[in-house]
Amino acid sequence: MKLFPSHLFGADKLPSWGVHLVDGQIDTSHGPILYLEDISVSFDGFKALNNLSLYIDNGELRCLIGPNGAGKTTLLDVITGKTRPDIGSVFFGQTIDLLKMDEPAIAQAGICRKFQKPSIFDALTVFENLELALKTNRTTWYTLFHRLNSEQHDRINHIINTIGLSDCHQLRAGFLSHGQKQWLEIGMLLMQEPKVMLVDEPIAGMTHQEIERTAELLLSLQGQHSIIVVEHDMEFIRSIASKVTVLHEGSVLTEGTMDEIQNDPRVIQVYLGG
Ligand code: ADP
Ligand code: MG
Repeated sequence: MKLFPSHLFGADKLPSWGVHLVDGQIDTSHGPILYLEDISVSFDGFKALNNLSLYIDNGELRCLIGPNGAGKTTLLDVITGKTRPDIGSVFFGQTIDLLKMDEPAIAQAGICRKFQKPSIFDALTVFENLELALKTNRTTWYTLFHRLNSEQHDRINHIINTIGLSDCHQLRAGFLSHGQKQWLEIGMLLMQEPKVMLVDEPIAGMTHQEIERTAELLLSLQGQHSIIVVEHDMEFIRSIASKVTVLHEGSVLTEGTMDEIQNDPRVIQVYLGG
């Protein structure tokens, strides 16, 4: 006996909640997709973020730099709901108040984060990892009883092309190089159709060639996605940056093009520890 007869529970009859429902409600008509205003975060009296304001435009690729301890990771934690600010506001589009949502709800709404340690399954192939990422978007019984339709197949193959792994889509992820694993991880995030992607130190441990490929990948994703990249490597930042935000002591020190940033005496002083 079939527990869920397919004529009663076909994929086309499933409710499409979550990402798709919220997608239509993200109001980016004024430009920004993220509004952070007057944010402060204290840890035992120490201000990790201090009256910080930041606006990220819909579809832009923003680079975030700053010395160790400047508050970069804390800023990402605030956006994803991991850390709550003491004061300030965080809006997704003009209307969605992220401070009223918990971490899973924020992720479901389309803000996702790539951590350094990939959460891929070594024993599964590249394709299967992406298939799993597609399904974890849904309910458990959907995961158990659903078969991929051709549209979903196409989507997985499209992502495989995007992340440059078409030559090894049947390879078990455990055999991928370090860089390829990072791209697969990005591919798994893309399966969730994120509006905003937060990427903390994406090129750590990569070869020179992998770094170049990662730059191309991130550049190809802007437009469809808004991306915040935190990275120390200035050569890499230069290769992808249009607008750079410099954080220092929990606040925005300055914003601009890479050339503007590198010639700014305040930035030079902060980095040289003057
Ligand atoms: P960055 O990522 O720019 O290096 P972080 O956001 O990790 O900086 O940290 C900013 C400051 O806040 C640092 O001084 C750090 O020690 C402090 N900090 C971060 N998280 C915590 C925490 N959970 N408890 C106490 N202090 C913290
Ligand atoms: Mg950090």
